[in-house]
Amino acid sequence: MRHRWPEDTRFTRVVLEVEDNVCAVCGRALHICDHRRHRIFTLQGPVEVVCKFAHCADRQCAAHAKTRSPYTYCLSSFDLCCLT
Ligand SMILES: [Zn+2]
Repeated sequence: MRHRWPEDTRFTRVVLEVEDNVCAVCGRALHICDHRRHRIFTLQGPVEVVCKFAHCADRQCAAHAKTRSPYTYCLSSFDLCCLT
């Protein structure tokens, strides 16, 4: 069961973005295709982590179907899953 935060909770927002903003295959700009939000409690207070996922906008590109996530999200996703 998910934790329900009080409605008046003030979160500090941390935004994680894909480190490379261009496609490694065709060189075009990546398109943000999804946001995932995780609310966690830290020693500094409540934090909302927003992870932006991206993929190549060119449907003909071989990398179009591959969604890229922020590197730091990959490192911390296990911790986030355990806390939310
Ligand atoms: Zn591409």
